[in-house]
Amino acid sequence: MQNYLGIDWGGTYIKSGLVTENNKILKKLVYSSLELQKKEVFIDTLYNLTKEFKNIKAVGIGAPGIIDVKKGFIYYLPNIEGWKNYPLKEKLEKKTKIPVYIDNDANVFALAESRVGAAKDVDFAIFLTLGTGLGGAVLVNKKILKNMTSAAELGHIPISLEEKKCNCGGSGCIETFIGAKYLILRYKELTKKDVKEVKEIFISAQKKEKEALFVWEEFGSILGKFLAGMVNIFNPQKIVLGGGVAGALKIFKPYLWQALKKQVMWPNLGGLKIVKAKLKNAGIIGAAILAKESIKEVGV
Ligand SMILES: [Zn+2]
Repeated sequence: MQNYLGIDWGGTYIKSGLVTENNKILKKLVYSSLELQKKEVFIDTLYNLTKEFKNIKAVGIGAPGIIDVKKGFIYYLPNIEGWKNYPLKEKLEKKTKIPVYIDNDANVFALAESRVGAAKDVDFAIFLTLGTGLGGAVLVNKKILKNMTSAAELGHIPISLEEKKCNCGGSGCIETFIGAKYLILRYKELTKKDVKEVKEIFISAQKKEKEALFVWEEFGSILGKFLAGMVNIFNPQKIVLGGGVAGALKIFKPYLWQALKKQVMWPNLGGLKIVKAKLKNAGIIGAAILAKESIKEVGV
């Protein structure tokens, strides 16, 4: 039986998995992203993995940045130094002699959730990963929306004319209002407390602290209004929220719904559901599915 190598490439960890045709992870190995930051080390490590795991039919990679998905070419990775304008697919295929497919991490997450996770029962969905940044993906007729580049950079839709600088190089993006970093800043501004993680604001809100509740109310309202725009464009059956911040969904969901309903143009939402992501290893599974589906498409 042949398997797939799925690589979930994050800013902190690189998780790799040997995944079966039925999307089961047989083996998993985790590296620190720093350890594999050098291109030669990255390529050698993946090459060794294909040897160690054996019978790999194709390799899939979810990378944290802007990718030409057709060429498997990395334009840049905002949080990983040294990876600019690099033909990763070409280099890896040359070394491993195995087909390699690359997409951005949010698309890979969405692919996993749409095939075997929270959105497997629908054809149209919106995916958001709520973490330090804000990743996005769109499912249209069971396909992840993309052309040459990974597309659906929903976190970088400008929602304000304020010159609020964003990591992407632009300003006023939705990410600069509801990314984890900004949630923490907002909370610090209100309380003068030295918090490090969003989880702390979640815990304070559970204890009914006024400022923490306010931060989540504001977060839910902005996200709801933003998602109303997405609903108006894509008319999804489901919105799937992943990433660490989605853990607080139960606190911000009422505000999200309120803002969304107020703004959305459809008379009824057609049974729209907003749910949390389901899979534990969506990055690895999604990367393996990317490899599996891509290789079938090109008919190798
Ligand atoms: Zn941006």
